[in-house]
Amino acid sequence: MVRFTVLASGSKGNCSVVTGGNTRILVDAGLSCRELFRRMRLVDEDPATLDAIIITHEHSDHVAGLAVTARKLGIPVYFTDGTHRAWVRWLSPRKQMTHTQWLERCREQAAARMAEADAAPAEECDPEEAELSSQSAPVEKAEPGVAKTAPEKDPTWLPSVRFFEAGKPIQIGDISVSPFTIPHDAADPVGFVFQAEGVRMAVATDLGYIPPNVKAQLKCVDLLLLESNHDLEMLRDGPYPWSVKQRVLSRVGHLSNEAAATYLETEYDGQAAYVILGHLSESNNLPELARLAAERALNGRASLLANRLLLAAQQEPMSTICF
Ligand SMILES: [Zn+2]
Ligand SMILES: [Zn+2]
Repeated sequence: MVRFTVLASGSKGNCSVVTGGNTRILVDAGLSCRELFRRMRLVDEDPATLDAIIITHEHSDHVAGLAVTARKLGIPVYFTDGTHRAWVRWLSPRKQMTHTQWLERCREQAAARMAEADAAPAEECDPEEAELSSQSAPVEKAEPGVAKTAPEKDPTWLPSVRFFEAGKPIQIGDISVSPFTIPHDAADPVGFVFQAEGVRMAVATDLGYIPPNVKAQLKCVDLLLLESNHDLEMLRDGPYPWSVKQRVLSRVGHLSNEAAATYLETEYDGQAAYVILGHLSESNNLPELARLAAERALNGRASLLANRLLLAAQQEPMSTICF
């Protein structure tokens, strides 16, 4: 049976579980290990049955509980090389740049990737970015499937690190995973389409806008977890400093209710039995505003009335969706 459960979604922690055949994957680990396990048990999922963890990007709301969870379960963690390097750099005691410099570099890289995604919907490796990463990161790359040696007190030690690239599908047990680049201010952020037993489930949160390569990936999915981060007016009038507002609103920030609704109204193909709105901001959004914007968009298209619209929450897991 294929199942999808959002354990948490929002700027204080993101985590979902995808099950297909005999395989169970944790998508991001943005909750503490203890909370993550508690929530899994709440939805009758046994943490011990997880086979792997896969990471979208290195922001703390996606990796806060990663190391502890992976070690406790002894399971492999799948990253892009860029995300792994960024994660290691920030957990390593010897930082090579200030956080401001690091954020600036992430923005530049995201802008370069964005330009590329705009130009060509097909995924391509960016040699410039690869060069940048290799220059600045002192991280030893583990071979796929091979555990790094376990130095005492190394906060970045994981039982096993495996790498994937955006645009190149991989197989994890019974689940095939298609990672795709998203425009967001992290080192090498991705969304995923998971496929098992003929069911396709897409995860697309943490993106400043929806470029052509993402639109292509979101076609013909049975479940769509789409970001609906903020209400534009609430963000503009809200408590964030101007620089943070600019970051959220930028092309490598987060998707607004309005942008998600525009996509649903104009370009979404209507194939998903479940549309889940996720990564809602607690400061700059209200669940009802997000729901209303998406409902209006879907209701405007008579053919989409069968789509079930759901909201993922920060504080509690969603009921499991079964196919
Ligand atoms: Zn996030
Ligand atoms: Zn993020």
